[in-house]
Amino acid sequence: QRVAEEEERGQPAVTRDGHRVEIAANVNRPDQVGFALAQGGEGVGLMRTEFLFLESGNTPGEDEQFAVYRAMIDALSAGNEERPLIVRALDIGGDKQVPHLELPVEENPFLGVRGARLLLRRHDLLEPQLRALYRAAKEGGKLSIMFPMITSAHELLALRKRCEAVRAELDAPQVPIGIMIEVPAAAVQAAQLAAHADFFSIGTNDLTQYTLAIDRQNPELAGEADSLHPAVLRMIAATVEGARTHDRWVGVCGGIAGDPFGAALLVGLGVDELSMTPRDIPAVKARLRGCDRGELNRLAAQALEMDGAAQVRALDGKAI
Ligand code: PEP
Ligand code: MG
Repeated sequence: QRVAEEEERGQPAVTRDGHRVEIAANVNRPDQVGFALAQGGEGVGLMRTEFLFLESGNTPGEDEQFAVYRAMIDALSAGNEERPLIVRALDIGGDKQVPHLELPVEENPFLGVRGARLLLRRHDLLEPQLRALYRAAKEGGKLSIMFPMITSAHELLALRKRCEAVRAELDAPQVPIGIMIEVPAAAVQAAQLAAHADFFSIGTNDLTQYTLAIDRQNPELAGEADSLHPAVLRMIAATVEGARTHDRWVGVCGGIAGDPFGAALLVGLGVDELSMTPRDIPAVKARLRGCDRGELNRLAAQALEMDGAAQVRALDGKAI
């Protein structure tokens, strides 16, 4: 039976009516890639690079970063298959503080200089990371770069400019440049952003926090910070609609992607890729294989009309 299970994990997530959903893993380190692939991951949909800064206790230089990105790409090329790697540029701020960077103390760090806002102010952080990434891309593999906490198109345009300058200087290949959709402003302006982004990945952890005005770290409110709240689902629907105006693909890399019912709903909303903690992959794949896409679309339409997350969760088992 174990052999059968392992074989099933290796199969793609295809619904009963033949619709394929890409299943990727959230992995930060090269030594975790093997496990992610064994669980059925088809690539890495989110590499959080904060760990490079958080665990070493210092700011990693360009060469050190290059070595890690290359090791990720190499680990993803096991069995002569090139699997995608999406590296997220440094997302510091909010809940991800790095003591040795000595960033200014803010009253509301979640609403402060975090993610793209910090990258645009700190070229000393952005440049080495971009150089390391483009040097890694020059040596082959399926690398994409993703920027966190984008709120407005001008941020993305400024970051793209930096990317292009570094790429040209290194004579490196172009790589897809995508953005996290995790701020309500970005979700409702998805069509505007899609004009300049090659893909979207929805960060439902932050999108939920900002849509519902619930601190994602507040234990008292943890039960209410549910990404299946219809208001969050509407943000996701708006993101997919905006992306389609420019034929961009949309992934989800927040926690809800690893919840089997959540994953089914996301596919019903039109999401193309799901990236999750590796151990969640087998159950999500199994769930999607039992679904019909038309049913999922109807389920998603129903969910959007609900009053709250509890009503959405109550649809589980009823409709599909
Ligand atoms: C998210 O916000 O959903 C996300 C994937 O990013 P992080 O959890 O790292 O903020
Ligand atoms: Mg986030």
